[in-house]
Amino acid sequence: MRRWVIAFVGLVLAGCSAASVAAPSASAVASASAAPAASAASSTTTATVASTTSSCTAPAQAITELTEGPYYKAGAPQRATLSTTGVAGTPLVLTGYVLSTSCQPIANAKLDFWQADGNGNYDNSGYTLRGWQLTDANGAYRLETVIPGLYPGRTEHIHVKVTVNGKTYTSQLFFPGVSQNAGDSIYAANMLIALNSATTTPRTGTFNFIISV
Ligand code: FE
Repeated sequence: MRRWVIAFVGLVLAGCSAASVAAPSASAVASASAAPAASAASSTTTATVASTTSSCTAPAQAITELTEGPYYKAGAPQRATLSTTGVAGTPLVLTGYVLSTSCQPIANAKLDFWQADGNGNYDNSGYTLRGWQLTDANGAYRLETVIPGLYPGRTEHIHVKVTVNGKTYTSQLFFPGVSQNAGDSIYAANMLIALNSATTTPRTGTFNFIISV
C-alpha cells in the first residue's frame, strides 16, 4: 500500500509532460512509431504510468469531436481485427492509448471504429470494417484494419466513437501526407495518425485519444 501511494504521488507531481503509460504489448510497441517507452517494472497497474513520452503533453490535444457522418451502424461486433480476407486496402495496424488530460490511462474505454475500404466503399449491409473493442488495463488498444480510400468529398479517414464513463465522443482519424486533407472541411489536424514512414506491410501508426475526465 505504501509503495502504491508513493507511486501515485510521484505521478501527480510529475505532471502531464512527464507522465506516460506502459507499453501495451511487445508487438504493438515494436510496430508503433510514436509508442511511449516502456516503464520500469512494476507490480501494480497504477505504477506502470511512470516513464516519459511526448505523445501526451497538453489538454489542448484533447479529442476533437467531429460529425458521425451517414454511415455509422449500431450493432457492430466486438473485435480488434476489422480487415478480413478480400477486403481492399493496404493493411494497417494502429496502436495507442486512451488517456485523460492529465495523461492517466483509461482502462475499459470503448472504441467503436468504422470506415471505408481501400476503394472508398462502406459496407452498409453488413459489418465489414466495423467493430468495437475495450482498452486494456494500461489504456491501450490495437486495431488491425486497412488504410481507407477516398470517396467523393472526403479525405482518408477512420470514424470512431470513444465512450468513457458513459459519455461518447464521436470523431475521425486522418492520415498524413494526403493532399485531400487540405480541402476537407471536416479534417482536424490534431486527429492525425502518426504513420510510420516505413512502407512495409502492414503499415503501422499510432494515435492517442485524450479525453477530458
Ligand atoms: Fe466517412
